[in-house]
Amino acid sequence: MRDMAKKILIIGSGIIGASLAYHLAAKGAEVTVLDANGSVGGVATPNTWAWINSSWGNPEPYVKLRMAAMEMWRPLAAVHPKLAVNWCGGLLWDLGEAEMAEYVRHHTAMGYEVRLVDQTEATRLEPQLTEPPKFAAYSIAEGMIEPSDAVNGFVQAAEVLGVKFIGDQSVSQIMMKNGRVVGLKCGDLVWPADEVILATGAATNYLLENIDVKLNLDSPAGLLVHTHPTVKKLNGLVMSPEFHVRQTNKGRLVLGSDFGGTQPGDDPAATAAEILAKLPGLISGTAGLEMEYFTLGYRPTPGDGFPAIGRLKNIEGLYIAVTHSGITLAPAIGAFGAAEILDGVRHELLVLYHPDRLTL
Ligand SMILES: Cc1cc2nc3c(=O)[nH]c(=O)nc-3n(C[C@H](O)[C@H](O)[C@H](O)COP(=O)(O)OP(=O)(O)OC[C@H]3O[C@@H](n4cnc5c(N)ncnc54)[C@H](O)[C@@H]3O)c2cc1C
Repeated sequence: MRDMAKKILIIGSGIIGASLAYHLAAKGAEVTVLDANGSVGGVATPNTWAWINSSWGNPEPYVKLRMAAMEMWRPLAAVHPKLAVNWCGGLLWDLGEAEMAEYVRHHTAMGYEVRLVDQTEATRLEPQLTEPPKFAAYSIAEGMIEPSDAVNGFVQAAEVLGVKFIGDQSVSQIMMKNGRVVGLKCGDLVWPADEVILATGAATNYLLENIDVKLNLDSPAGLLVHTHPTVKKLNGLVMSPEFHVRQTNKGRLVLGSDFGGTQPGDDPAATAAEILAKLPGLISGTAGLEMEYFTLGYRPTPGDGFPAIGRLKNIEGLYIAVTHSGITLAPAIGAFGAAEILDGVRHELLVLYHPDRLTL
């Protein structure tokens, strides 16, 4: 039987910690979220490109997990208005023609709404493209969300259910007793818990190392340029071979070498200026558009490129939730994680993504 009053501490208030907090509280758990960052909202999360997708380059089980997560975003719009995704669609031609056709065939067979379009249709979809592609893949199923809105939507929905978010607690140690996690330490302060969740993104190994665990995790840097707000230039997400670009709900164009951003190099400001200089080649009427700022984010990335979600063998009371593509996956990780933690039911779409496979 489920323990309705299970006391859960989540470390990390990015999109993953916030989604888990909401989904656990919705199932009756008593949840507190601790973050070292001085406020809630995450570190990688505010610096993301925020494309919600199940695009090319992934094996079938992972495509299915991503597609399930995409569907799970839809009902969240009724939970909180900030969780409403802009289902704007994505136009992509950063692949060769044959690979693009194979991508469309492969994903269509799995029920993904994607199709090949010619230049006329690409122009209709995105009339401001300077040189519309002759051949592209268009997915009407894809969308974007402003990441700070999304995290705040989860935080506010969780707070209504009684979750406490504490933004000034740097967790220094996981406390163990007889192979079981019993709480956390923040300096001299002790936080007892029945279950601890690490939603700590790129910083996950720092805490695991003090219980002698290390996971194969990487955190590649990604720089994104944000222009000043401008008139509507794009209808949806655009993934060209040169760079990926989208327009936010405030009118800023956000671009990087791809969705994961650009390697910043030794001089990130110069790198940002170089990316911006390419914009008029893709979108007409952007020649004088200036950069408002650039962001530099570090993408929490398990070594094999897939999520690390679940409990570690031989350590009770500790649940790990670290992934790239966290914006796409947040609803699924939140809901499936809550079901596993509270009901002991591991969702079949998570079966391949046990964190033990990454233990070094
Ligand atoms: C440039 C870039 C582009 C991206 N593009 C996309 C995209 O298009 N689509 C997509 O789906 N995903 C994308 N991602 C990935 C996505 O942003 C991340 O997977 C997601 O934001 C990770 O969220 P998180 O909550 O795990 O981590 P974070 O947002 O980093 O949150 C982790 C939190 O844990 C806290 N923390 C860590 N250690 C401690 C400690 N010891 N004590 C207390 N608090 C601690 C941190 O302060 C932080 O607030 C992109 C990422 C980047 C950087």
